[in-house]
Amino acid sequence: MLDMSFDPASRVQDYLVFGEFGDVNPSITDSSTYTFLSPERMEELFEHEIEGCFLYSRHFNPTNKYLASALERMEDGEAAQVMASGMGAISTTLMTLCAAGDEVVCGRSIYGGTYALLKNLLPRFGVHTRFVDLCNPDAVRAAMTPRTRVLYCESLSNPLLEVSDLPQLAAIAHATGARLVVDNTFTPMILSPLRHGADVVVHSLTKFINGTSDCVAGCVISTREFIGRLNDINSGPSMLLGPVLDSTRAASILKNLHSLHIRLRQHGSNALHLATSLATRGYTVHYPGLGSHPQHELLARLMNPGYGWGGMMTFDAGNHAAANRLMTLMQREKVGYLAVSLGYFKTLFTTPGHSTSSEIPLAEREAAGLSDGLIRFSIGLDADIAQTTARILNCLAEAEISPGDYPTQ
Ligand SMILES: *Cc1c(COP(=O)(O)O)cnc(C)c1O
Repeated sequence: MLDMSFDPASRVQDYLVFGEFGDVNPSITDSSTYTFLSPERMEELFEHEIEGCFLYSRHFNPTNKYLASALERMEDGEAAQVMASGMGAISTTLMTLCAAGDEVVCGRSIYGGTYALLKNLLPRFGVHTRFVDLCNPDAVRAAMTPRTRVLYCESLSNPLLEVSDLPQLAAIAHATGARLVVDNTFTPMILSPLRHGADVVVHSLTKFINGTSDCVAGCVISTREFIGRLNDINSGPSMLLGPVLDSTRAASILKNLHSLHIRLRQHGSNALHLATSLATRGYTVHYPGLGSHPQHELLARLMNPGYGWGGMMTFDAGNHAAANRLMTLMQREKVGYLAVSLGYFKTLFTTPGHSTSSEIPLAEREAAGLSDGLIRFSIGLDADIAQTTARILNCLAEAEISPGDYPTQ
């Protein structure tokens, strides 16, 4: 039975570390290498990790360890490793779990970079992927073979915002001896996938967790055994491919992590307000906080209470030209920026079909319901969301987009 008292924000808050002089922010590691008082001690560290001892900053460094420890607590994992990007976290995780001849089963509505990695790059190393509709458990089961090492999903999929049934997917993966890997980038704190049976959680820290769109970073959270394999000196993809996060960035992300819970509540209440306003006027919006969202009940069952339903919303403008008109007007009217990425304090919007998901072929996008006029919003921390909503409604009128201009789902 799940312990319902788990609260990721309190877990982060209770993680106290201080610097050499009692500084409330831990000192930032400014070294690539570390001295040893004796040669024997150095040899020992090459054989196994020693708590509090560091060898070389590509392997581990103290500042990155602080950030990793906070994230490991947030996700209720045993160990974590931070990386130079979300893609660094995803690629090294998959390379830790798969070898030539192995297979991956992956959701078909997925971040474009992850799709391209699985579809184009990993086959060159003999790892092949089947893309399936994760909302159809029979299709997922049918795609699993004895060679499947990984079932891969996003907690809330990009860009269609489908909620993954994590306990069900974990059961399907484990039945054939595969591991469930979950990209939790869209729902930090809101969902705790390891607590629902996932084996590995990855994040792009670039998005909500950092929240200021000033750097690119990632992380992996799992068991001590898995992080040990990921970072093994002789065979670990993280150690050997080297996507190491700079320690000054790790320090700034750790500070931002401490306000994540407050930001999520504001992103979530703004997004719910805007989604409700548009839906009640008859527009086609997807937002997991709306009762009309197909997995609203599922998310309600899985989520940690108190952080809202997330900051991601999609809006169907009907067609590509209408979406472009609307986005141009919204930028002019200071609704936010026409930009990829998400989790920023200002609202960001793009048409995924023509940007972040353009790696996915048109036929596959259509089958997944990713229409040409779909605009993905990452809702910002706006102080007055009613005013933003009014601006968007004006932009819709000026762009001549009315409810019912397109087939509703
Ligand atoms: C941005 C993103 C990534 C990739 O992260 P980077 O930090 O840009 O490498 C992976 N998954 C999801 C869901 C993302 O939004």
